[in-house]
Amino acid sequence: MTDSLNDLLIYLLPLLGFCVLYAGAKARTQRKNLAALNESIETGMTEPSSLHPVINVNRCLGCGSCVAACPEQAGHNVLGLIDGKSTLVGPSFCIGHGACAAVCPQDAITLVFGTATRGVDIPEVNPDFESNVPGMFIAGELGGMGLIRNAIVQGCQALESIRKLSGIGQGDGLDIVIVGAGPAGFAASLGALSHKLRCVTGEQDSLGGTVANFPRGKLVMTAPVEIPLLGKVNFRETTKEKLIEFWQAAEKKTGVKINYRERVEKIDRTEDGFVVKTDQRTYKSRAVLLTLGRRGTPRTLGVAGEEQTKVVYKLIDPQEYRGKKVLVVGGGDSALEAATSIADEPGTTVAISYRSESFSRAKQKNRQRVDETAAAGRLQVLLSSQVKNISEKQVEIVQGDQTHTLDNDAVIVCAGGILPSPFLRDCGIIVETKHGTP
Ligand SMILES: Cc1cc2nc3c(=O)[nH]c(=O)nc-3n(C[C@H](O)[C@H](O)[C@H](O)COP(=O)(O)OP(=O)(O)OC[C@H]3O[C@@H](n4cnc5c(N)ncnc54)[C@H](O)[C@@H]3O)c2cc1C
Ligand code: SF4
Repeated sequence: MTDSLNDLLIYLLPLLGFCVLYAGAKARTQRKNLAALNESIETGMTEPSSLHPVINVNRCLGCGSCVAACPEQAGHNVLGLIDGKSTLVGPSFCIGHGACAAVCPQDAITLVFGTATRGVDIPEVNPDFESNVPGMFIAGELGGMGLIRNAIVQGCQALESIRKLSGIGQGDGLDIVIVGAGPAGFAASLGALSHKLRCVTGEQDSLGGTVANFPRGKLVMTAPVEIPLLGKVNFRETTKEKLIEFWQAAEKKTGVKINYRERVEKIDRTEDGFVVKTDQRTYKSRAVLLTLGRRGTPRTLGVAGEEQTKVVYKLIDPQEYRGKKVLVVGGGDSALEAATSIADEPGTTVAISYRSESFSRAKQKNRQRVDETAAAGRLQVLLSSQVKNISEKQVEIVQGDQTHTLDNDAVIVCAGGILPSPFLRDCGIIVETKHGTP
């Protein structure tokens, strides 16, 4: 009897030990996932920006395949198991790879746009990427197909459809105006060059679109793709910097011309094409390809000197500003985060200007950080103030009856953005607002 009890214990004890370790690991993971979910809720980061998974909890077995498959999981908690069910714990970090849905053995994941609380406008396009406005085409993330490779493929396919339009290569205007030089617009511009189309590409910012705005060193997951004039490009896993360098080299090698810092503001239909008005010129074109993504257009200040390259509308890397005199304009979370993170860099002199009398729109955590940084003498806060003029080495800010003239190397304007939907509607394009349903 004692021998058999001993035998039983020999087998039972390791099993028990394993069960205890497993339960401990599971509890730790659950705590980590709950913390990530709570942080998303507390910081208001609960709305996914693009295509994202909705998990059917009745079907989910909690196997975790989706968690392991998500390529963004390396940098953040995007998906996590809570109470044995997969949960989108970091919705704002989801960028719509869709790898989770592809691996789920239960078909428990559906990929959708928008949520019950935030609608996402998807324009109507036919299989040739032409919208309801004849001659106006849409490709890339704007049309609902996110990810770099998809955007490139669609940009090229839309260009091929445009080539088949009547009137291309005839008349005295352009064949095509491409709006935006992200992956979709850049690939389409190369396609237009390879077919010798008369093309202008207007880009309000810089080459690379959303990719150029990724944080420094971001790991980029993509897949091999065929690009006009470049042939097969074999990127799978790379960094933001390497991808941008590659595109810049391609731009140089092919001689493709992109008009940077030129924003398309209005498109009117004519009898045989379009009149495209930018903030600099007016073009007459047979077709238009909208590859403007979903980030929208940053709000500008509308002051003299704003056109200088030292004025930008997003902070990408605080380290860039080491040793510099920087003005941040705005009072939302992104402005406060930009000002304080730059002030943390050695040798910086930072001021923040905001037109209201307090930062009441921003989160408590960021307001506190501003107070602490200002109290430490590392940040000058100018409330109820407005930028009046930006010169090469200085900025003028009016506050009440006082004018501050600050030495300045860089201005970062964080005044929010205008989403593309009003622009699309103004162009006559029909959009459908999706609220998280398939
Ligand atoms: C944080 C983050 C991480 C991501 N990581 C990955 C990843 O690892 N792998 C992956 O495949 N995808 C990733 N994506 C998604 C990918 O970046 C986008 O799907 C892709 O860039 C879409 O390309 P696009 O050309 O359609 O649009 P965009 O890249 O958004 O480019 C649109 C361009 O149009 C310009 N524009 C807009 N309006 C105007 C106008 N009126 N006039 C002139 N120009 C205008 C904009 O300035 C912009 O340059 C990520 C996205 C985010 C936000
Ligand atoms: S892969 Fe499917 S079944 Fe497995 S955890 Fe994710 S949603 Fe649930």
